[in-house]
Amino acid sequence: MRDILLVRYGEVFLKGQNRPFFMRKLVSHVKEAVSSLGGRVWLSEGRIYVSDFSDLDECIRRVTRVFGLHSVSPAVEMDKEDFAAVCEEASRMMREMKGSFKVLARRSDKRYPLDSPAIMREAGGYILEHNPQLTVDVNHPDHVMTIEIRDHAYLSCRRIPAVQGMPMGTNGRACLLLSGGIDSPVAGYMVAKRGVELCCVHYHSFPYTSERAKEKVLELARLLSEYCGEMTVYVVPFTDIQMKIHAGCPDNYTTLIMRRFMMRIAERLAREAGAQALVTGESIGQVASQTMEALVCTDAVVEMPVFRPLIGMDKSEIIERAEAIGTFETSSLPYEDCCTVFTPKHPATKPRKDLIAAAEKALDAETLIAAAVEGAEKIVLNARKDKKDE
Ligand code: ATP
Ligand code: MG
Repeated sequence: MRDILLVRYGEVFLKGQNRPFFMRKLVSHVKEAVSSLGGRVWLSEGRIYVSDFSDLDECIRRVTRVFGLHSVSPAVEMDKEDFAAVCEEASRMMREMKGSFKVLARRSDKRYPLDSPAIMREAGGYILEHNPQLTVDVNHPDHVMTIEIRDHAYLSCRRIPAVQGMPMGTNGRACLLLSGGIDSPVAGYMVAKRGVELCCVHYHSFPYTSERAKEKVLELARLLSEYCGEMTVYVVPFTDIQMKIHAGCPDNYTTLIMRRFMMRIAERLAREAGAQALVTGESIGQVASQTMEALVCTDAVVEMPVFRPLIGMDKSEIIERAEAIGTFETSSLPYEDCCTVFTPKHPATKPRKDLIAAAEKALDAETLIAAAVEGAEKIVLNARKDKKDE
């Protein structure tokens, strides 16, 4: 008898000729997610199984974060021949449960002496007899004890939802502009959920932004990598550009010009990393640099499409998402961001593209961009490879 996980995957994307490709990706991601726990992973009869892991709760946590998976059930795998032992184990598993239950039986081994109705009747009777706190409700039970008779008997009574989405790496690669704020990690998550691999770019304005601010961003990237697996983060030195903008451009345009430089540099790094699109955490009207006119000015300097998955979300909705995916707490740590260091008093809310472009002429953009790209520090991380409690 041993603990295993039964893992269900989404069915929608599995139709058609891409199925083997998707399945290979999916299984390899589950393998990676449980590798440092020693887990063994295999595919059988339309489900993924995980066994031999060192820590059940951690294993569940990791597997439920693999994109493309639907739900996970911790289960007991045991010898099916001794049906009395199966009933006893099912009853033990229901010991802590309250309310109503039913037994659901599935039998792929058609030579098994008991058919599904008999398994349900026998096991249900045994559980009820040994758990007086429970009642039977076949229509709307609080708990379902599933007994499956395959090569072994598999017993499970909990189903934990996974993140869903599409398997990572099945929809190309994009480059996320990752700040230390609440929004950009959520934006990255939403794109990654659709199977898009991410690389990240972070602009760092040392010494105006501290080493701890950089660590915070790397921690956010690490949290995303719990879902995404291996990720590359480029930390780009941005102080020189900010100082030059500050010194040479009209005050009301400095934020937008800075944002345009961020986009240009990100596009260069994205190309280098084989990414086809940029992702930001902007939401329309959230701040002066995210008005319609401002977004038009920001987009104008890059050729790549810019994905803004939060465009129609309120801050409160974004915060809810950040809490759900586990980035909110880290995002809320109070370290300064490079945007806040040189914030003008009166940023233009209805900027004009032609006037911004004219103002930028005071700068040697190409040299500044090339130096920033050249100076980028490349960090590769993968939270799935972390040992627990590290
Ligand atoms: P966030 O909460 O994501 O920081 P924000 O509400 O603070 O967003 P802005 O500071 O205007 O908004 O930034 C808008 C977007 O620009 C961010 O979501 C992010 O994609 C990108 N961005 C801002 N600052 C940085 C930075 N230092 N490095 C990389 N990207 C950044
Ligand atoms: Mg920000």
